[in-house]
Amino acid sequence: MSILLDGIGELVTNSPAHGDGPLGRIRDAALVVDGGRVAWVGASGLAPAADERVEAGGRAAIPGFVDSHAHLVFAGDRATEFAARMSGQPYAAGGIRTTVAATRAASDGELRANLRRLAAEALATGTTTIECKSGYGLTVVDEARSVALAAEVTAEVTFLGAHVVPAEYAGDPDGYVDLVRTAMLDAAAPHARWIDVFCERGAFDADATRAILAAGIARGLVPRLHANQLGPGPGVQLAVEHGAASADHCTHLADVDVAALAGSGTVATLLPGAEFSTRSPYPDARRLIDAGVVVALATDCNPGSSYTTSMPFCIALAVRDMRMTPDEALWAATAGGARALRRDDIGHLAPGARADVVLLDAPSPIHLAYRPGVPLVAAVWKDGAPPTE
Ligand SMILES: [Zn+2]
Repeated sequence: MSILLDGIGELVTNSPAHGDGPLGRIRDAALVVDGGRVAWVGASGLAPAADERVEAGGRAAIPGFVDSHAHLVFAGDRATEFAARMSGQPYAAGGIRTTVAATRAASDGELRANLRRLAAEALATGTTTIECKSGYGLTVVDEARSVALAAEVTAEVTFLGAHVVPAEYAGDPDGYVDLVRTAMLDAAAPHARWIDVFCERGAFDADATRAILAAGIARGLVPRLHANQLGPGPGVQLAVEHGAASADHCTHLADVDVAALAGSGTVATLLPGAEFSTRSPYPDARRLIDAGVVVALATDCNPGSSYTTSMPFCIALAVRDMRMTPDEALWAATAGGARALRRDDIGHLAPGARADVVLLDAPSPIHLAYRPGVPLVAAVWKDGAPPTE
């Protein structure tokens, strides 16, 4: 059955072939959905007939957000740690261990309920595709169940056994790296598409990152990397060297890192929720964009350093504090995220794309940054399914 979404005040297609500018904007637009896919986009008056008609009432419509970086399989929260940090204590990677202990102690049902709650929260704020990492289990059994649970809510599952060295391996970090790249990888790989390493001082160094990525690649997983978040380091170079889909955070970059990204197929995924929630300096988005690097925006949703599922919030931060234009931020949160997940069926609304459409209670998507904190998502179409309004 085909559905005509008509009376769209401003439609962002992210397809320059179908509208104006890099965002492929169409004013007074219509969109036809058929079989879960976009069948047609164009000016309202030219729309073909469809089985059903839905009136947008002049509201703006955009592609569903693609959140390409989230950690949703965990138990508990760290509100107390957040309050302490906001009272002046710095963020350190070791806080992850608090969540590891809670996650190991939780039942499958508790983890599943929390995961589904967060995935539903993300969908309600317009996220139609979300990536989900393991990384709070850090045993063979707990990482395997983490990726299996993640696979229940998304196809974009990332094995992050190399999130932090767990307490029981504090005296033998090399032994933990060996576990990650052998038995833990074997148990997790059947449920995962991606492999990730937290390449950072206090987490995993260059040699460990290389060993784990090589093992993951040999198992058919594609790398994406936590890189250069807390300080300068080898993460971005390793991401590019291994053909990673994305280098994530990119907060502390040398000129050679920017150049490496610009000449590569690796997307720079910026996660301003993390800098916001740790009161840290933001990555230099302008430097990356001006150098020709493809930039994505994602939430980094996790209970320690960025406990938000809201892509509109990240867009507002990117515009206000990272000096991205509203158009750049919207593109990065949709098409950029799709690039970071190497997907060409999402992040845009050209015919053939998945009919993942967000209708905004606003005449223009500029309002996402212009009206921060306001729930502007009026309706979400996922795979052409009727709005959850
Ligand atoms: Zn992360």
